[in-house]
Amino acid sequence: MNVADSELVGGILAGEGYAFTSELEDADVALINTCAIRDNAEQRIHGRLGLFHAQKRRNPEMVVGILGCMAERLRERFLEKEHLVDIVVGPDEYRRLPALIDQAFSGEKGIAVRLSRVETYEDIEPLRTEGVAAWVSVMRGCDKFCTFCVVPFTRGRERSRSLGTVVEEVRTLAARGFRDVTLLGQNVNSYRDGTYDFADLVRAVAGVDRSLRIRFMTSHPQDMSDRLIDAIASTENICNYIHLPVQSGSDRILALMNRTYTVEEYLQLVGRIRSAVPGVSLTTDIISGFPGETDEDHRRTVELIEAVRYDGAFTFTYSPRERTRAWEMGDTVSGEVKSARVTEIIGLQQEISRGINQRFVGTIEQILVEGPSKKSAQEFTGRTGTNRTVVFPRAQEQPGEYIPVRIVRANSATLFGART
Ligand code: SAH
Ligand code: SF4
Repeated sequence: MNVADSELVGGILAGEGYAFTSELEDADVALINTCAIRDNAEQRIHGRLGLFHAQKRRNPEMVVGILGCMAERLRERFLEKEHLVDIVVGPDEYRRLPALIDQAFSGEKGIAVRLSRVETYEDIEPLRTEGVAAWVSVMRGCDKFCTFCVVPFTRGRERSRSLGTVVEEVRTLAARGFRDVTLLGQNVNSYRDGTYDFADLVRAVAGVDRSLRIRFMTSHPQDMSDRLIDAIASTENICNYIHLPVQSGSDRILALMNRTYTVEEYLQLVGRIRSAVPGVSLTTDIISGFPGETDEDHRRTVELIEAVRYDGAFTFTYSPRERTRAWEMGDTVSGEVKSARVTEIIGLQQEISRGINQRFVGTIEQILVEGPSKKSAQEFTGRTGTNRTVVFPRAQEQPGEYIPVRIVRANSATLFGART
């Protein structure tokens, strides 16, 4: 989501005549887009600001700014106390950036951190580099108020772009050669533009160009409608891949988290999805060490993972966030226990993923070519429709082409292929 937001900021600044440079030495303006979801993000910002400061000593004219979800929280410290930055701009005020940067050039510090009920930036074209895959933000904010989560406070109320502007943006992407579009929102399933819901939106986007692959993130289990499941099942180019965060396998913890579903309801949903979309790939998010989580609660999470057999899972240690309801519950599980639980879950999931991936060995997969692999120039990487990464020997293919690849080997994270 932050990559998409940075592209949006790039779009706003490009409209004012700015261009992007990857060389800090060339920059007149250096901006950090921050994330507040877990605590370790803050530490990284210190490191990055250090770099900017060394450069500012060489070029005192350079404007330094903090953007995004930590803006409000960091403004006092970095702008008002330590004078480390010139501007601080929250996620709903990016339109004011050009004016704030201008002011900063003339020595005046600037701050804009108000949240909006209506801002969707739907008229702004994000500044994207060429490639195969693109993010398209379709809604902003969140009204769910899970008790551990800071998003409703940092990004404000839920609001959706109109279907027409999303379809138009995807049409432009298709014309530019993008082939893989991920529709983004904290809770995409509650997308509503006044006329259309999310099932309408994915169908419309998929209809723009059938050679596009359409994916979306993130789906809250509560709002995963049968209409959406049906759209995935009946539309060839909507990927058979759903990220469906469960967070915990204990009903007691789910209630404390305000996740609004029980394990039983979640499993029924998984059953409905799997029977409607055979071969669908399911991934999840898990939080370990929520306040009051006992060994028994943890065991239930392990059992849920074994029961669902996810294709992948992202596991986080609980990080207390100020202003949330869980903040009041304390941070009762020790760091040691949290880490041990996360390690167990990651180990279990790797074993499951390896087992699932092994079953692909010998099959032929249609993959979308993305480009050179990280490890070797002789190898390319691509993805299956179920979001599995495939590494294969390079021949004549170009990024953006669909090709069949025979899978010859697999580990927990990657499939390895040979050309057919
Ligand atoms: N809107 C999405 C999640 C967005 S945040 C959803 O509801 O599914 C991405 C993930 O970060 C969450 O699914 C959760 O697992 C994790 N997360 C959020 N707040 C956290 C916290 N305080 N501590 C640890 N992990 C957290
Ligand atoms: Fe946070 Fe819950 Fe909203 Fe996801 S649905 S962004 S976890 S409050």
